[in-house]
Amino acid sequence: MNIHFLDLGAAYRELKSEIDAAVERVLTSGRYILGPEVEAFEDSFSEYTGAIHSIGVANGLDALHLALKVLEIGPGDEVIVPSNTFIATWLAVTQCGATVVPIEPNPLTFNINIEEIQASISPRTKAIIPVHLYGQPADLDPILKIAKEHNIFVIEDAAQAHGSEYKDKRIGAHGDLVTWSFYPGKNLGALGDGGAITTNNQYFAQKLRALRNYGSRIKYVHEELGFNSRLDPLQAAVLAVKIAHLDSWNERRQKIAELYINRINNKKVILPYVPEWVKPSWHLFVIQHPERDRLQSFLQEAGIQTLIHYPIPPNKQQAFSKQIINYKCNLAEEISKSILSLPIGPHLSDEEVSFIIKKVNNFA
Ligand SMILES: *Cc1c(COP(=O)(O)O)cnc(C)c1O
Repeated sequence: MNIHFLDLGAAYRELKSEIDAAVERVLTSGRYILGPEVEAFEDSFSEYTGAIHSIGVANGLDALHLALKVLEIGPGDEVIVPSNTFIATWLAVTQCGATVVPIEPNPLTFNINIEEIQASISPRTKAIIPVHLYGQPADLDPILKIAKEHNIFVIEDAAQAHGSEYKDKRIGAHGDLVTWSFYPGKNLGALGDGGAITTNNQYFAQKLRALRNYGSRIKYVHEELGFNSRLDPLQAAVLAVKIAHLDSWNERRQKIAELYINRINNKKVILPYVPEWVKPSWHLFVIQHPERDRLQSFLQEAGIQTLIHYPIPPNKQQAFSKQIINYKCNLAEEISKSILSLPIGPHLSDEEVSFIIKKVNNFA
């Protein structure tokens, strides 16, 4: 067998006629920046996430960066982020000139450890960015409570959490701002880069619409120092087709996760922990094994492609080596050595899933 980690072409093949028609509609429309296609997708995305406002931007990193900008976070400010995340969460903070304050993960959920937040808050703390890592929502209630007590903002990095639920409510507007990526490999992925911010706050929404578009609401009138970070209408049109299928794709991911959880019985494998109050989007299915590298090679030889999310935590990246602060993120580093992401794309067949389970169980 030859099982790719994720078959990106499968969703296009499934929806080819609809996607082709949407693309052709944009091509013939003559409207190639913002406009009705972007607005239509923003409306669908608001409806899907349950947020009042949705603002399409160029990618997930920009979504984080613009969210920090709209909160006027800059030099001298501190932002609390997880140590265990994709580097974008950290980069958005440094892009604003603010300081990253990393917090180690809860060893069960891998998400930000609630117990450590309180001690990391200083008079300079302006925001907390919980990441819903692998599509498992972080424990938002205590985070929102701490934020309220200290008068700081919560930006959720939901790049992996399209369709995830926290206490029976979809991710979309628990925090002040929620940022999204439509990178092709995400649960809702474009055919290129894309991103969005959702919020219930009208002031932030209005400001973000200007910020993404050169700080302008009226053409050639610039109220603030803006950016060029607009969701492409071609991508918006594709996303509008795909969003109608997101729930069924997520259900398929859930089914595969159940098969893995119920049937992987290798004693040395640690399966993902799912608190009862979350419904994950299962963006990634991450197991742990003490001999991860050997397991990965074993699966590779059987034709199963696996990945590691992430092999090097941000604090260990060369990009952050010149920072004045010497970040100690022992837990994130430890986790990076034992984790392995199994394929969980919605287009995997039952046969492929059974084969993966059999091989994981056979590994000695
Ligand atoms: C993918 C991702 C991002 C960045 O998204 P891009 O669209 O690639 O810029 C940010 N945070 C997390 C957790 C991600 O997984």
